[in-house]
Amino acid sequence: MAECVFCKIADGRIPAQTVWQDEHVLAFRDIRPLAPVHVLFIPKRHLETFADLAGSGEPALASLARGIREVVAAEGLSRTGYRILSNNGPDAGQEVLHVHLHLLGGRDLGPMLLAARER
Ligand code: AMP
Repeated sequence: MAECVFCKIADGRIPAQTVWQDEHVLAFRDIRPLAPVHVLFIPKRHLETFADLAGSGEPALASLARGIREVVAAEGLSRTGYRILSNNGPDAGQEVLHVHLHLLGGRDLGPMLLAARER
């Protein structure tokens, strides 16, 4: 998509720190890292949400799993652990409307969600 920032990264119009890629998926470092390791995995093809990805018999799904396994090993997270998350839609605060998985690690990541936030 012409104006999608992650499509621009996927086709090289915006630079990024690539850490892994194959035919279907690109992994690059988040520009505002929340942990010592913060890598984003995107399908190179524009899909908005995880449901779009899962619903289309996408070869990118297998690539995502393989890429995560390889980056986890390369970044030294296999023993210490890591978190994978994907924000989808407004309640999750998805900023970039091109589906992506965050891989976070390299420190104690704390509880899964902020506790006791005002509802
Ligand atoms: P989300 O809130 O799940 O949509 O997360 C979007 C993520 O994309 C944020 O963590 C941003 O820091 C990251 N991001 C936005 N633009 C770029 C960029 N040009 N290069 C790398 N990461 C980016």
